[in-house]
Amino acid sequence: MADASVYRIQGATGEWEVVIGLEVHAQVTSNAKLFSGASTEFGAEPNTQVSLVDAAFPGMLPVLNEECVRQAVRTGMALGAQINAWSRFDRKNYFYADLPQGYQISQLYHPIVGEGSIEIEADGATKTVGIERIHIEQDAGKLMHDQHPSFSYVDLNRSGVALMEIVSKPDMRSPEEAGAYVRKLRSILRYVGSCDGNMEQGSMRADVNVSVRKPGEPFGTRTESKNVNSVRFIMAAIEYEANRQVDILEGGGSIVQETRLFDPDKGETRSLRSKEDAHDYRYFPDPDLLPLELTPAFLEECRASLPELPDAKRARYEEALGLSAYNAQVLTAEAETARWFEALLAEAALKAGKPETQVAKAAANWLISDLFGALNRLGRTVEDSPVSPAQGAELLALIGDGTLSGTLGKQVFEIMLETGQDPARIVEERGLKQTSDTGAIEAVIADVMAANADKVAEYRAGKDKLFGFFVGQTMKAMAGKGNPQVVNELLKKALG
Ligand code: ADP
Ligand code: MG
Repeated sequence: MADASVYRIQGATGEWEVVIGLEVHAQVTSNAKLFSGASTEFGAEPNTQVSLVDAAFPGMLPVLNEECVRQAVRTGMALGAQINAWSRFDRKNYFYADLPQGYQISQLYHPIVGEGSIEIEADGATKTVGIERIHIEQDAGKLMHDQHPSFSYVDLNRSGVALMEIVSKPDMRSPEEAGAYVRKLRSILRYVGSCDGNMEQGSMRADVNVSVRKPGEPFGTRTESKNVNSVRFIMAAIEYEANRQVDILEGGGSIVQETRLFDPDKGETRSLRSKEDAHDYRYFPDPDLLPLELTPAFLEECRASLPELPDAKRARYEEALGLSAYNAQVLTAEAETARWFEALLAEAALKAGKPETQVAKAAANWLISDLFGALNRLGRTVEDSPVSPAQGAELLALIGDGTLSGTLGKQVFEIMLETGQDPARIVEERGLKQTSDTGAIEAVIADVMAANADKVAEYRAGKDKLFGFFVGQTMKAMAGKGNPQVVNELLKKALG
């Protein structure tokens, strides 16, 4: 295994290294907003999910939503992070039309979660990326601009929705590492259930901090590209930004610390504004909210509610179930896949009357090659699979006990996909059972040999390659239902 993912930009004055830190904004899975009871459902008519708190009517007071706190704490625990039993909310003051309060309630000085880490894999190398902190804050509304006539509209449905800002250390060194980091973080959030990770709907977006330096030198000045909303765009923004900075530095210029915008259509970043510092926002503790204190019982409840996480699950699949590293990785990458696999495995073991360890490999192989292949073709995911884990397990059992050959199994699976019927019923109604009846097979073989006397002679004269031909003819005559092993044995005997 390689030591690290290496990404270098060659300049006239030598090689440059890129340094990346990500601030990921993840929308907390919660029915209500961070400080109000308004709904957070995606896609509602503009301004239909706005309480007086979210619209910042004078005198309205925020009431902290305990569920959002619980989700942030569980997320911190899943990242092995320090949980701060005492934290506080601060006001970040700025004016913008999508922010009716004139400030965002956030946590600057005392975030709820401190340092943690994430294990990533990029270019075949494993690496630990540090987490600096996680704090909770409010989202702003959404502005929409119309050109003809030129109007701007504001939708406050998102105003006040809870976000976790997950800040990484500047530990990543290539676009691949940044991509792997975001995918892994998204996977963990989905396992925990604290964020749906849906980047297209904006429930996860990243501020991408990039600087360049000559290897071994101190960090250079960084720029921050705001609100990048897909893994591919994050990687493209880094690539573009690193090269832009190298060009400037090689030309004798210097990097301005600024906020930039990534344009997905052009694949480039452009300057938005010079970077503000914390003091520009006049942060101060929010006088409407008490400091947040977490009790040991609450922390214990959070910890007890955590599921088995992807790294642990993957190790268990390899060690306890004997799956290959590749299969274990594929099956645990997404919580939904792992859930499907475990349901399949439990049913398959039950149907076969064997321990899970003895059916795990066949179940894993079938899921990864057959089911994934079919879902890809259909443009579906395991979540809306036309075949259920119980039906998959029944199919595996029919293959396992010899009722179906591998080939017949694939045929039955295709019919299951089309009709949604149970495999046993398909086998029954369509007579797709594999036959091991030696008498029946011998009779077919005799017919095949009689019809191909010339080939039999050639085979017997030493043309071994013809064996496959006889297998093919026999299977064809039996409509694919002959047990391949029995057909092989009986053919060998008959051909002598
Ligand atoms: P701010 O509060 O101004 O946003 P932080 O120090 O909190 O700044 O850092 C924000 C993000 O920028 C973090 O993810 C951090 O890892 C990253 N970062 C800090 N310095 C650099 C650098 N020189 N190059 C790249 N990323 C950096
Ligand atoms: Mg920042």
